[in-house]
Amino acid sequence: MLDLILPLECGGCGAPSTRWCEACALELAVRPDEPHVVNPRVDPEAPVFALGRYAGARRRAILTLKENGRGDLVAPLALALAVGVYRLLTWGMVETPLTIVPAPTRRSAARRRGGDPVTRVARAAVAGHPDITVAPALRMKALARDSVGLGTSARERNIAGRVVLRGRRPGTEVVVVDDVVTTGTTARESVRILRAAGVRVAAVLAIAAT
Ligand SMILES: [Zn+2]
Repeated sequence: MLDLILPLECGGCGAPSTRWCEACALELAVRPDEPHVVNPRVDPEAPVFALGRYAGARRRAILTLKENGRGDLVAPLALALAVGVYRLLTWGMVETPLTIVPAPTRRSAARRRGGDPVTRVARAAVAGHPDITVAPALRMKALARDSVGLGTSARERNIAGRVVLRGRRPGTEVVVVDDVVTTGTTARESVRILRAAGVRVAAVLAIAAT
């Protein structure tokens, strides 16, 4: 419906007449030494990897998928994430069988429309891989307010104690996947809650880091 009304434009840079241009595809391409280790202010007590900086086409694609519900951007983001997961496997950072647990997000309009964006990207990234599954095993309790614009300590107060396990706990090694890692607070709560339930968390992998 939305696609019929909105003009066709690249989800990464706004260029006309394409949904995803070559330049943005190149910008999102995962180089041989990526993902890189990042050190967020709050230590999640697991290695944190990011596919790139939260800027340019990467930032815009994440935002446009999340806020405008541009489902066609799942594919390019999933391609980058798939290469990232593959690298972690080849580097021996994680092993199969593997479960990807999307970091919990606050409910949003986009999520109600098409489902949680991170979960969609993760599912598309590992679709068809027999030894990797996606389990949305975490959720954020409703009290958590949008953390945009909050400082580190306010963010921590906002998220602490509000990440909870849902459904069956994953039985394999886990990678927590998020779209953007900023302070590391959500990642740390996710790792903490999973480990408290006896889950082996090997790493956190983000599509972008600030
Ligand atoms: Zn573009």
